[in-house]
Amino acid sequence: MLQICREKQVQLSRQYQDNTLAHAVIIQGIEGSGQNALAKWLIELLICQSPLSLTHPHESEAVSEACGQCKACLLNKADNYPDHLLLLADNKMLGVDDIRRGNAFLEKTAQLGTVKTILIPQAQIMTVAAANALLKTLEEPTENSYIVLITDDLDSLLPTIVSRCALYVIRPVIGDALLSQLDVSNSDDALDSTGSMVSNTITNYVNLSQLPELTDKAVYEEFQAFNKSYLDYLFNGQSEDNLLSQIVASKHSLRWLEKITCNILREYYLDNAIEQSSLIVQQQMSVHVFNQIYQAIITSNKLIKSYQQANRQFVGEQLLMTINNIVRPSI
Ligand SMILES: [Zn+2]
Repeated sequence: MLQICREKQVQLSRQYQDNTLAHAVIIQGIEGSGQNALAKWLIELLICQSPLSLTHPHESEAVSEACGQCKACLLNKADNYPDHLLLLADNKMLGVDDIRRGNAFLEKTAQLGTVKTILIPQAQIMTVAAANALLKTLEEPTENSYIVLITDDLDSLLPTIVSRCALYVIRPVIGDALLSQLDVSNSDDALDSTGSMVSNTITNYVNLSQLPELTDKAVYEEFQAFNKSYLDYLFNGQSEDNLLSQIVASKHSLRWLEKITCNILREYYLDNAIEQSSLIVQQQMSVHVFNQIYQAIITSNKLIKSYQQANRQFVGEQLLMTINNIVRPSI
C-alpha cells in the first residue's frame, strides 16, 4: 500500500480550510504514485459533514480528513451517496455522453450534502468532443461543485482544460523518501531472502500500463532510441545532436528524460540495499550528480508545461548544456 503524497495533502487541506480550493482539480501522477489515493481522500473530505483536522507528531501543518462516521461518510462508503458521481469509462474511452451525464448531475440540486462532487479517473481517455463538453462546464462552474480529474499523461489533455484547473503533480519519490517507504512496506510484508519485496515495490512504480510507449509499438521504438541516446550522452558525452533532435521531435521527450533518470536513481537506491550493481555505481558516477540532473529535468519539464509557446529547441539546448556542466564540469 503506497502512502498518499503528504505534501499535496497538506497543501489541499490548507486550501480546503481557507475555502480557496479550486472547483476543478487535476491530479497528475504516474500509475502507482498514489494519485488515486489522493483523489479518494479529497473526495471523501469534500463529502464529509464533520471533517477532522489532524496534526501528526513531528509535523507542523494539519491535514484534514473525512470523519468516516457521519451519514455522508457512511453512505459514501456504501457507494450510495447521492451527491457524488464517478465517471468511469467504458470501451476505454470517455465520450461526450459521459460528460453530459456529469453536467446534468451538476445542474440538479444536491440531495443530501451541500456540495456535489465528480471524479473522473483516466481523464486522458476523453474524446475531443467530451473534452469540449467538459470545457464548457469548467468555464461556467455551478455553485458548490467540485470536479476532480486524474491523469497520468497531462500532454494528452486539452491545454484549455489544464489551464482552467488547479494542477497537482505527484512526482515519484526517490532517494531517502523512497527508502523510508520501503521500510514501511517491509514492516507490512515479509521480505524474502531474494529481496522479492523490493522487486514488488519496483513493480508498483513501473506499472505504467497507460503510457503510450507501452501500448504503441512505434512509440516504444522511439522511446528505446531515445533511451539509448540519452544514456550515451550521459555516460559517454556522445549523441548530443541525436538527443536534441529527439527532444524537439517527441512530445513525450521531457517526460521520458524524467522517467529514465528517475528509474536510474531508483535502481541505485533500491539496489544499494542489496548489492552495488546499479548503473550509477557501474558508471562510477555520484548519486549527487544524478540528483542534480533530475532537478534540472524537472525544471525544464515544468517550463515546457507551463508555457504552451515554450520553444522545445531552446529548452532542450539549455537542458543539455546544464546536464553537460553537471556531468563534465571541467569541459
Ligand atoms: Zn464524515
